[in-house]
Amino acid sequence: MGFDLNGLLDARRGEGSELHARHMNHQVPRVLHAIGFDRVYERAEGAYFYDSAGNRYLDFLAGFGVFGVGRNHPVVRRALHDVLNAELADMVQMDTPLLSGLLAERLLSKAPALDRVYFCNSGTEAVEAALKFARYATGRRRIIYCKHAYHGLTAGSLSVNGAEEFRRGFGPLLSDSCIPFADLEALERELRRGDVAAFVIEPIQGKGVHVPPPGFLADAQRLLHDDGALLICDEVQTGVGRTGRFFAYEHEGVDPDIVTVAKALSGGFVPIGATLTKGPIFEKVYSSMDRMLVHDSTFGGNAMAMAAGLASLAVIEDEGLVDNAERTGKALRWALQEMVDRYELLVEVRGRGLMVGLEFGKPHSLKLRGAWNVLQAARQGLFAQMVVGPLFQRHRILTQVAGDHMDVIKLLPPLIVGDDEAQWFLDAFGDIMDDAHRGTGLMWDFGRTLVKQAFAP
Ligand code: PMP
Repeated sequence: MGFDLNGLLDARRGEGSELHARHMNHQVPRVLHAIGFDRVYERAEGAYFYDSAGNRYLDFLAGFGVFGVGRNHPVVRRALHDVLNAELADMVQMDTPLLSGLLAERLLSKAPALDRVYFCNSGTEAVEAALKFARYATGRRRIIYCKHAYHGLTAGSLSVNGAEEFRRGFGPLLSDSCIPFADLEALERELRRGDVAAFVIEPIQGKGVHVPPPGFLADAQRLLHDDGALLICDEVQTGVGRTGRFFAYEHEGVDPDIVTVAKALSGGFVPIGATLTKGPIFEKVYSSMDRMLVHDSTFGGNAMAMAAGLASLAVIEDEGLVDNAERTGKALRWALQEMVDRYELLVEVRGRGLMVGLEFGKPHSLKLRGAWNVLQAARQGLFAQMVVGPLFQRHRILTQVAGDHMDVIKLLPPLIVGDDEAQWFLDAFGDIMDDAHRGTGLMWDFGRTLVKQAFAP
């Protein structure tokens, strides 16, 4: 009798896929099966996780960016044990807990031009707060966002999502406006209507891994501020060291009014989101005692999340992970860049720090063009999936495609990776590219199977 987690896990081992198929989103196990990703994992450490047969996998996905400090980091684990052992009076609600104050202080020390922090529980919630704060502080309604932008999937964040496949059927959404990525003239045109509260942008767009052209963000900020509108940088994926700076906006020398973070701040354990703003924005939103809870979240600032956040920031500093992201990312991109000359299917390597996009494109040689055209006719983006598949199955490296209908894969390893992990990836990627350039064999067979199994009409 009583609850025994280990006993439960032992008794029901291996039933995950079946339970998901029966009780949850049934398409997840179907897709995982179709692309050969249906494994059962047992444990994880740092940049690696292990399946039930004891095989080791290299994690170049990092839970979509959650595992900045790696998996099961001992410092974060100890902090969480300490919180449990302290038996704190958490979420009293009518109090001012020390831990959230300390994390706010620590985060703001990384963003000297920002003054205040709102804590919530996810990236999309951090964006929802940003949108509401921008509207209230400016007294204006419209938010401008970029094509292919991804800011989360709750209704407000969905209104600034730049991909039709996410939006379709969920309307009516807020009447926000989309411009092409990093198009200054389009932004200027929208501002002329006089009703823009803010422009929201990922400093590196996650879908496709697009870096704005040099100077774009600074010019955008100037236009916005001349107009009285705000710049929101969504750093949910790019923040907390990912791009070789603590915040990616630092590469651009800008001074955003609102910044959102989440993912890696969690230490890979406890969901967290944070919206950092300049002082006057909070002064307007929380302008009187009556408005104390005008935007709030029951779990925001809970002790486990705050402790995980503080521990993660300490690890990032102690282990020099921001510099490591810069250094290892540069070496990795450099080595990949050299492959662009060697492999006609690889057309571009881009990104910053440890956020890397590899774009594939139409080959010149007749031998490869036929096979490429067959895949493109079935579905754009299949070639990238054909690379992700064998990277996983043959080389045990987990990566992801950088978005639907695009031939780009995204590398998002934990910030702790070094030369060994980079070399593992480079050798594996070289092997797969060699295979792909032969124009026959297992890889193209895998592509054809994918067309048949998963994507054929
Ligand atoms: N903004 C960006 C830039 C993101 O990459 C994501 C998640 N990938 C989100 C917001 C949403 O975060 P969450 O999934 O935690 O809601």
